[in-house]
Amino acid sequence: MLGLYVHIPFCNQVCPYCDFFKMVASKERKKMFVDALLAEMKLKNLHNYQFDTLYIGGGSPSSLEITMLEKILIRLDEVVNLALLKEFTIEVNPLEITEELIKLFVKYHVSRLSIGVQTLNPRLQKIINRPLTTELLQTKIAIVKKYGIANINLDLLYAIPSETWEEFCEDLEKITSFDVPHLSCYSLILEEHTIFYHQFQKKQLTLIDEKMEAKMYHHLCNFLKTQKFIHYETSNFARKGYESIHNLIYWNCDEYVALGPGASSYLDNYRFKTISNLQSYFEGLKNQTIILEEKIKITNEEKQKEAIMLGLRKCQGLSLTKFFEDFNVSIFEVFPAINQLLEEKLLKIKGDYLFIPNKYFYISNYIINKII
Ligand code: SF4
Repeated sequence: MLGLYVHIPFCNQVCPYCDFFKMVASKERKKMFVDALLAEMKLKNLHNYQFDTLYIGGGSPSSLEITMLEKILIRLDEVVNLALLKEFTIEVNPLEITEELIKLFVKYHVSRLSIGVQTLNPRLQKIINRPLTTELLQTKIAIVKKYGIANINLDLLYAIPSETWEEFCEDLEKITSFDVPHLSCYSLILEEHTIFYHQFQKKQLTLIDEKMEAKMYHHLCNFLKTQKFIHYETSNFARKGYESIHNLIYWNCDEYVALGPGASSYLDNYRFKTISNLQSYFEGLKNQTIILEEKIKITNEEKQKEAIMLGLRKCQGLSLTKFFEDFNVSIFEVFPAINQLLEEKLLKIKGDYLFIPNKYFYISNYIINKII
């Protein structure tokens, strides 16, 4: 499998917890970005690859004007043939969904929409600066479905500073009432260089304690199971057949090409990251160059560790046969700590798969660190 990712580094407003490469920008800057992105596509000779999936994320792709989005989609269609993709996802801010936008997506074969909801609780929305009523979300989802896009993901954020147990449970019930086949549920992580980080340092922000966060995670997993969602990755839940094909490319350590500033590609044993600076990105492309922030050759040892780190994020776990075929060595020889973790029942084997049992998913970082 081979994926293509396009990073749109703009949002109409910046959320206080977000550390993605994004900014609020003028129409002029956005236009310059679109031209630079098209130049990058040309330099990367995209027509030489056979992509299975395309994911346009950010930032917030829907913060671009329709004409700008169409310019990008036209060129992508010329070099990728969008109709042949197994999955084509675009991230959208629910407030930016319009009939015109969805019609454009359908015209260019978008098959999956990822909608950043985060929370439907008005008090928590104020804290993270993301207003959205349940009724409005209902209307927006109806527009998406009206034009035939049924494969919809909703993002839910939990463990928001000061969030109570009751608020969390209510949010979870609301988010499952929309009849969509995919949910991504992430706990709020305090990242450096964010507004929340500065507020926390000034003691203006109280974080949710670890025990409560663990309790929320367990409830999330159990509740979504009762709602017939399959828990297929640490933070991702889908109805049967709606698992994200593009995200599975990352978790299966398959290759992907990325476009846009700050975006990372993984190809031919190298990881490349394009410069996370819009001005440098523009200047590079003016001179027919993609300025990189990072280019790292991934050694065999690092690949084995990545196979563990990413493979064990999936609830199914990682295939022992695939590991042997990829590296020509038994996983138990390279990582002897696995035997001890199996004895302690922190890891299990079912058929060909090594996995972390559901009840220990919350400490998966601890288990993976023990292994590698
Ligand atoms: S969370 Fe999404 S919408 Fe908010 S600033 Fe980050 S990328 Fe933009």
